[in-house]
Amino acid sequence: MLFQYRRCHRRTYLDTYGDPALKDPPSDYFVKLRQDSADHRQSILNQFAPLSRPRYERHDWEAGAEATYCMMSEGVESIHRGVLVAEGPDGIRYRTEPDLLVKQHGESWLGDWYYVPYSIKLGKKAKPEYQLTAAFSAYLLAEAQGVWPETAGLFLRDKQYSVNLERYVPKLQAALDDCHKIMASSTAPEVFISRNRCGLCPWLSHCYTEAKATKHLSLLPGVTLPRYPTLVALGLTTVEALAEVNATRLTTALGTEHHISEKLIYQAQATAHDTAVPRLHTGYFPLESHQVPTADIELYFDIEAAPDKDLIYLHGVLVVDNEKQQQIFHALLAEKPEEEEKAWFEFLSLVDRYPDAPIYHFCPYEAQTVARLGQLYGTNGTDINGLLNRFVDIHKRVVDSVALPVESYALKHLARWMGFEWRDEDANGAQSICWYDDWLTTGDRTYLDTILRYNEDDCQATYRVKNWLVEFAQSFWQ
Ligand code: SF4
Repeated sequence: MLFQYRRCHRRTYLDTYGDPALKDPPSDYFVKLRQDSADHRQSILNQFAPLSRPRYERHDWEAGAEATYCMMSEGVESIHRGVLVAEGPDGIRYRTEPDLLVKQHGESWLGDWYYVPYSIKLGKKAKPEYQLTAAFSAYLLAEAQGVWPETAGLFLRDKQYSVNLERYVPKLQAALDDCHKIMASSTAPEVFISRNRCGLCPWLSHCYTEAKATKHLSLLPGVTLPRYPTLVALGLTTVEALAEVNATRLTTALGTEHHISEKLIYQAQATAHDTAVPRLHTGYFPLESHQVPTADIELYFDIEAAPDKDLIYLHGVLVVDNEKQQQIFHALLAEKPEEEEKAWFEFLSLVDRYPDAPIYHFCPYEAQTVARLGQLYGTNGTDINGLLNRFVDIHKRVVDSVALPVESYALKHLARWMGFEWRDEDANGAQSICWYDDWLTTGDRTYLDTILRYNEDDCQATYRVKNWLVEFAQSFWQ
């Protein structure tokens, strides 16, 4: 509960009181993450032997806590999913089951030893929610053994991390107090859609429906969780109100740079009037023609990656020959992870065939990856800086220069607003990672075909956005 609270207060409430029938089924990507997480946990646990686990009737937490305490009193080396409980305020019982309790030398109620709690997480970074829950384990452990461990440990994907308890225990106390208030309330905390944290949440459809129905400001790009309370305090709770506000007043209230307030206001105007609004006076508009170059031959480039395998498995390139009115899609694919290098050189040889063609992509990832692969595998004589100079990030060009009535500037939202549709409605980057895994485990080429279709559509969508932007900008050139 505390873990979810740190991510979203509303989630804590819905997980306890919400109607489970309103939850979304888990996506393939979520299932994959859960499995990857379980594999990672097991690989860490394998390093601890002997590893003890308390036995007790399911859900009988007091019995679990007693069995755990017995093991701790006996001084077993390491305990997996021991149960720690303690008395909270107003009759609330706190409970946690840390992945590991590991014995250390030192004084405690138990004897000349005590325990340190460890959590095993798949993430690469020590996220605040990991640290908060680890501090909670340390707190309940201190109640059981009479001494605080000097730290709480995290086993992350590639490293270990020690939580600074001096820093996190005060945060923990505040979080627990806040959690009590939320749980004692008769209504769920206000909805706030944030793509980062809501993406994998099972309540997304439910919350999104509510946000849509109430025209919640969180659906407006640029309205972030830290900025939202200030907007509410200014009475700016509707898109229409935000569209009319004075930029200087907003800048002062938000304590941001002026161009950020202006961007927010342009965004509100675009959404309120359901139209594209050029971001005039920002220094980015009108766009110069060289910023969105057109050429007889243009390349549209999109990469598919599997971050869990540290692998780039597809370079998709759509070659558009405007003179011949011809389009050819090239899929430079690593059918096996070992073929990443081969696909990279195939990509280089393709782009070298069109030395004057601009290479359009969406977001910096493609350019960053090309620079990285060049360092990793070499370039076979290709001038990598010259190649990168041909790259045009169409996402940056759009967000810098124009506000659109969309909820996000992701490729899907932009291209759909411009009338483009993907052949597979449910395809997305996360799903394609699962399809690649499915291809590797089953050998069924249908999965590869689906990935290629999705990647080609992404290239086509980038092409559509670029054409729209050129057309839009051109009307200001005359
Ligand atoms: S969808 Fe978002 S707002 Fe709703 S509970 Fe989940 S994280 Fe919170």
